[in-house]
Amino acid sequence: MAELTPMMQQYYNLKRKHQDAILFFRLGDFYEMFGEDAKKAARLLDIALTSRNKGGGEKIDMAGVPAHSAASYIEKLIKKGIKVAICEQLEDPSEASGIVERDVIRVITPGTVIENEILADNENNYLAAAFKYQSNYGFAYTDISTGEFYLTEFSAEAADKLSDEINRIAPQELLTDENTAKMDKINQLQAQYGFTINETEKKDFNYLKEEMLSHFNINSLEGFGCEDMETAVYAAGQILAYLKQTQKRTVKQITTLHPYYLEDYMVLDAATRRNLELTKTIRDNKTSGSLLSIVDQTITSMGGRTIKKWINQPLINQKEIVKRHDSIEELLDNFRILNKCRDLMADIYDLERIMSKITYQSANGRDLIALRNSLAKLPGLEKLIADFKTELFSEIQDGFDSLEDIFKLIDDSIIDEPPTTITEGGIIKDNYNKKLDELRSLANQGKDWISALQKEEREKTGINTLKVGFNKVFGYYLEVTNSHLDKVPERYERKQTLSNSERYIIPKLKEKEAEVLGAEEKINDLEYKLFVEIRDEIAQEVDRINKTASLIAEIDVLMSFAFLAIENNYNRPEINSGEEIIIKNGRHPVVEKMFSEQFVANDCYLDQTKQRFIIITGPNMSGKSTYMRQIALIVLLAQVGSFVPADEATIGLTDRIFTRVGASDDLTTGQSTFMVEMNEVANIVNNSTDRSLIILDEVGRGTSTYDGVSIAWAVSEYLNNPERIGARTLFATHYHELTRLEDEYDGIKNYNVLVKEDSDGVHFLHRIGEGRADDSYGIEVARLAGLPEEIIISAQKILSRLEENNKMPLRKREKSLQDSKHQQLPLFEDKENPILKKLDEKDIMDMTPLDAMNFLYKLKQDL
Ligand code: ADP
Repeated sequence: MAELTPMMQQYYNLKRKHQDAILFFRLGDFYEMFGEDAKKAARLLDIALTSRNKGGGEKIDMAGVPAHSAASYIEKLIKKGIKVAICEQLEDPSEASGIVERDVIRVITPGTVIENEILADNENNYLAAAFKYQSNYGFAYTDISTGEFYLTEFSAEAADKLSDEINRIAPQELLTDENTAKMDKINQLQAQYGFTINETEKKDFNYLKEEMLSHFNINSLEGFGCEDMETAVYAAGQILAYLKQTQKRTVKQITTLHPYYLEDYMVLDAATRRNLELTKTIRDNKTSGSLLSIVDQTITSMGGRTIKKWINQPLINQKEIVKRHDSIEELLDNFRILNKCRDLMADIYDLERIMSKITYQSANGRDLIALRNSLAKLPGLEKLIADFKTELFSEIQDGFDSLEDIFKLIDDSIIDEPPTTITEGGIIKDNYNKKLDELRSLANQGKDWISALQKEEREKTGINTLKVGFNKVFGYYLEVTNSHLDKVPERYERKQTLSNSERYIIPKLKEKEAEVLGAEEKINDLEYKLFVEIRDEIAQEVDRINKTASLIAEIDVLMSFAFLAIENNYNRPEINSGEEIIIKNGRHPVVEKMFSEQFVANDCYLDQTKQRFIIITGPNMSGKSTYMRQIALIVLLAQVGSFVPADEATIGLTDRIFTRVGASDDLTTGQSTFMVEMNEVANIVNNSTDRSLIILDEVGRGTSTYDGVSIAWAVSEYLNNPERIGARTLFATHYHELTRLEDEYDGIKNYNVLVKEDSDGVHFLHRIGEGRADDSYGIEVARLAGLPEEIIISAQKILSRLEENNKMPLRKREKSLQDSKHQQLPLFEDKENPILKKLDEKDIMDMTPLDAMNFLYKLKQDL
């Protein structure tokens, strides 16, 4: 260390405290990185790697980025999950004696971004915490770009729920302890969400609770309703402690705390969210093509984030759901008002994000104007919804603050088109501050005097081309072209010679100049001071503004649902506490929009006694998955509070939706298809209740036919049995054997997708009808898919050969099934065995022992 130059010593001292981040070390106009940081940054950011003397004759790697364009580099690193510690010069280098004082002013981590350039408009940027404390799990999350802060807790037995919650909010960064991070389900998430293991900073409960109390400036957490949620408070406290450590300031935009309970919401595990493609598609993990992409008709960014939350968290409280339906209906009855509101909302910016910039003191004049322009719309919006009567709107009306005082503050003070910088004046309006007006008039008088001087001097000297000019080096001057130099009076002092003119000064001009420039500097300083005061004053109101922002988001989402209902012909579902799910002419909300073909609507009836468990057979591509998912999505949308894509729907409240769909290898975790499938089935069997809705698609395909059918059969029995689960279930399968379940158990019913066969081949009608499917169209589908005729013909031959030779009966079948010549999957079907047939035909009582021996011998030869 002693060998190092003083600056490098300073660098290493700071770096030691920020080992897990890349340190951006401010050196003049650049941020420099050194050593390993430099190497890493050079590689990731594609910038040049150089080196610099670090003292003692040794060199160190160095890479740098210009400070003015640092944001884009920081963004790249953050998106790769890397933290960036920003170290600034804390004093003006020209005024520093010795080495310039520097310190890290903020560590930007994936979960603590507030920069607009890095954030996606309609997405939250969550920092979450999952900690085990006192044998429970605490879970908390915040978005410091919007100020939200949530917390909950659950027992250690419910550890699965922790991973479900993490998946639900998909945080950018998760704080956790070592043991929690090692848990199977959590460990798997590490690749998706950046983990920050906070074990070393282990804090005790009292410390963390104190962090909470002091942050919110309160004596007890009772006001937030989480005094007794110690584990949740532990996790939330970890978040605040981490924010303090990285942001190095109080995160003022977090003004409230929302405890929540998992029991208040429908449970959706990660597999179900993925399978139902709620917010992202399975195929390419994009929003486009997901349920969200269809139902999100919101106008504001706040609404966009909120609708995503609602979709991810359907309700189970009938009253709350019905409140949403009521308000949508009210909007539909007032469609003109709805359109007017949506027009107004189009001009409302992202209030939450502006507020977070304001509280971080990084907002400029333009941000304030964006806020003012948004606030300008609030009184109009308030008026438009003033006559709405439904409960939800009454609540919104009660809480709505049109923030006119804040609008006025900005409108009185900030000019309409301020510059992006806040230190060079030109931000504050006239008539806002007396002192400022005085300075401005002083500066203006000086300027007037100076421009009058031109006329005066022209007259005095007779030089009619004489001009007064200004530049940064010489200030104000008098300029005379070469042809008039003979008329220049003695009192002019020459300052600068140009090719065809000379520039002069006179004492009077310099006096005025000092006055003008002095006033201008004072103006800039005063404007900056006033701007900061105004910004801080608005920052004080963050709570009020964010509350209104969340109400605007809610209005936006409700209007989005109303709009969606009109645009796509959705209808109001009836929600009750009964056990039925009745859907008339239901449609799949996404598939119906994606294809130009007419979508075929289908009904559904499920209850807990007569028709609890539906087995659906039918060829590939006939629409089984689409049908089952549409039922799940209709139930989900109904409980989210939306209208649904069906003519009519009655939904008996559903506590969970489970899906087990498709059989794709889970590459991220390296588990085999079958293992993944069985894990999901185990989850369903262990967690479903008689109020759950279960969608099973092709369970058992990941293993041999025998295993597969047996497992599928046993699982079906268990799920259907009211003494075990008795859940409402839809099960699509290729195992035709399962259709026999209908004969053996109450509550199980066969359905199939209807198919029309004519001279052109097979046509899928996409219509669901009662009964089992009675033909296999696998090869027909292969033909439709465009496989060459040669392959099709060959496949048909192989199929009939297999059918001939299949000697291993799967199980002894009932007569009715044997008679059925059409089977779903002939590959696995047991054709009647010729040897068995012969055996069957022989009457042993009719044979002599020798006959029997001979018969046996012949049979053996036939084998
Ligand atoms: P399966 O699960 O039986 O293999 P899918 O549900 O995947 O079949 O449906 C295959 C395709 O058929 C879908 O991608 C869609 O294009 C079309 N389809 C499915 N259901 C319908 C329907 N009800 N109306 C119109 N087209 C449908």
